[in-house]
Amino acid sequence: MSEFVRQHGEYVWVKPQNTTSEFAVPFGARIVRTEKTQTLVCDDRNKQFWVPAGDVLKAMHITSQEDVEDMITLGDLQEYTILRNLQNRYAKQLIYTYTGSMLVAINPYQILPIYTNREIQLYRNKSLAELPPHIFAISDNAFQRLQRLKENQCVVISGESGAGKTESTKLILQYLAAISGKHSWIEQQIIEANPIMEAFGNAKTVRNDNSSRFGKYIEIRFTPQGAIQGARIQQYLLEKSRIVFQSRDERNYHIFYCMLAGLSTAERERLKLQEQSPSQYHYLAQGGCFTLPGRGDAKDFADIRAAMKVLSFKPEEVWSILSLLAAILHLGNLRFTATEVANLATAEIDDTPNLQRVAQLLGIPISALNAALTQRTIFVHGEHVTTSLSKEAAIEGRDAFVKSLYDGIFVRIVRRINETINKQVDQPMNSIGVLDIFGFENFDNNSFEQLCINYANENLQQFFVGHIFKMEQDEYQNEHINWQHIEFQDNQQILDLIGMKPMNLMSLIDEESKFPKGTDQTLLEKLHVQHGNRSIYVKGKTTQTSLFGIRHYAGVVMYNPLGFLEKNRDSFSGDLRTLVQRSTNKYLVDIFPHEMPMDTAKKQPTLCVKFRNSLDMLMRTLSQAHPYFIRCIKPNEYKEPKNFDKELCVRQLRYSGMMETARIRRAGYPIRHAYRAFVERYRLLVPPVGPLEQCDCRKLARQICEVALPADSDRQYGKTKLFLRDEDVASLELQRSQL
Ligand code: ATP
Ligand code: MG
Repeated sequence: MSEFVRQHGEYVWVKPQNTTSEFAVPFGARIVRTEKTQTLVCDDRNKQFWVPAGDVLKAMHITSQEDVEDMITLGDLQEYTILRNLQNRYAKQLIYTYTGSMLVAINPYQILPIYTNREIQLYRNKSLAELPPHIFAISDNAFQRLQRLKENQCVVISGESGAGKTESTKLILQYLAAISGKHSWIEQQIIEANPIMEAFGNAKTVRNDNSSRFGKYIEIRFTPQGAIQGARIQQYLLEKSRIVFQSRDERNYHIFYCMLAGLSTAERERLKLQEQSPSQYHYLAQGGCFTLPGRGDAKDFADIRAAMKVLSFKPEEVWSILSLLAAILHLGNLRFTATEVANLATAEIDDTPNLQRVAQLLGIPISALNAALTQRTIFVHGEHVTTSLSKEAAIEGRDAFVKSLYDGIFVRIVRRINETINKQVDQPMNSIGVLDIFGFENFDNNSFEQLCINYANENLQQFFVGHIFKMEQDEYQNEHINWQHIEFQDNQQILDLIGMKPMNLMSLIDEESKFPKGTDQTLLEKLHVQHGNRSIYVKGKTTQTSLFGIRHYAGVVMYNPLGFLEKNRDSFSGDLRTLVQRSTNKYLVDIFPHEMPMDTAKKQPTLCVKFRNSLDMLMRTLSQAHPYFIRCIKPNEYKEPKNFDKELCVRQLRYSGMMETARIRRAGYPIRHAYRAFVERYRLLVPPVGPLEQCDCRKLARQICEVALPADSDRQYGKTKLFLRDEDVASLELQRSQL
């Protein structure tokens, strides 16, 4: 289309300049001057520069020239029109934008005065279109539907780390509590559950000072009168590696630092935490980061304790939890030494003080603890045989135990919270569920956790696509347009590959985990053999032969199978397991309840099985509810206000699966014009017509198309809009520019 003679001031799309990045997309600009080979353009920030004339791609649809509150109304819905719309709004501090009933929320990284009582009142009982986009509007809409139609609602919040999912979740809860408006004890309990969950499940990472290291689904139940009756929290996949290891500039879970800062000296003494500084504890020191700007660990600890009181945790229960946390810290400091017995590398613990502390806090005999940490008992030919562990194996065994222990504490705490807030009722009640879950992940090194997370995201993506597909179908129906011939493929194939069809990746991982001789390498071979020639399965190229990849909806992710089997088995030493079951600490026994003979430990459900079960349950719950989607976007990597990194945002739009909206549109008619706007733009292509007020614009539009477009071109005349394909719009534009 480079032959266009562009008019001064006209809005156009321009090819991205000086970049080869896959995330660079066309940008909007106005024409300032046109020369034979180059064009002077002016972008939205009033910067003027020359571009090659051929890089001016096409005229901008009128709906993209300013910005719109609902991107469904963009006449030209594309990645770059969405981006431009979001950027223009963000520049005006408008962080919320709709795409239909989906809300895009861009993290402002500053406190905006838009969540006060005034807004709560303002958004009460309004329809979405009535007021500017807002998270309260979505919350209110869900509440209205729940009341009016007596149906369950769910809000699916996604986005990458630091994008604002958890803050959004809190805002929804805040709004629902406010409009439920009873100031009841249960409302407060639900709100106060959050600081507890965050203390135990959130940590500072390089991406987010308060990063949730687990996913959660909170279901708020309402009485028929619209008052909050109770709630239930489901948690998914807490990151366990963090408990024993932190990368540079990251911390362990908040609770440890809060506890050290906030316990009284006497309490610390009872827990044998002589050292107050986290730097003195191996499990807290590896990231070299101890305090957080703007966060007071001691004050937070007081809040956590207060919250536990509100949730009716008993004092002895709180103390049990603190004792186990202290035991974890002492376990981390335990010194192992390598020795040699009869040419065999063995481990010894020459650290009686710490061993004693751990034994006492866990309520188990010190000698038995010592043995369980340095030896392993196996069952051979009906007999117990004890072998010594090497230093490395002993340390690994300790870490595995600590990971399971902490995870157990977390699960137990969530269960405890549910015991308080999930009040059983006789009559069925409707609920609003809010899902705050990790978005699609693609790191330099992707492991088992990423596979689980991305599988969850594939499920959510299918759910999302199903929903927007239906919305699009509704639009066609409303406009009385033939929908039948639109073909669209969803991501079922990928779901089948990872977890649904026989011989899927997860079942192969499971099988290999149970196979005594299975290794990560044999796993990889099996995956290759089984799926190697499928197009959505990717074998590692020359430098990545030890990897396997999946062509996800958001792009290819290469996974490193190293450690898969270990992570999937999700177990720890049978000796330790048997030992803790004899503990005098009731809380601890309750965490590992099953009386498991050592060698059946292998039969515990694997992580794959557990995760898939909870995911299946989640998807069933979601599919029985009316959905809303919130896509959170992180505007830059520096936690800075007013900084919109376009490429970063494009990447997230792609990962969010939001582009499916555009793809579904392109499967049909990507460009739509209200009849009048269409006639205004293209009326010059037909002989002069009178003032538009007196015309039948629908008829006129048909006339224009009949004159200017081939008779057999694919377009449809809806009730209020004309539906066109790209090539016809290009042809109209060309003719218009040549007049
Ligand atoms: P993760 O996946 O790591 O848990 P997340 O998506 O839950 O990330 P949040 O913890 O919700 O991210 O947000 C990160 C930070 O961004 C918050 O601590 C807060 O400083 C800021 N933030 C997010 N949303 C808003 C908002 N609406 N207004 C002001 N600040 C916000
Ligand atoms: Mg979070």
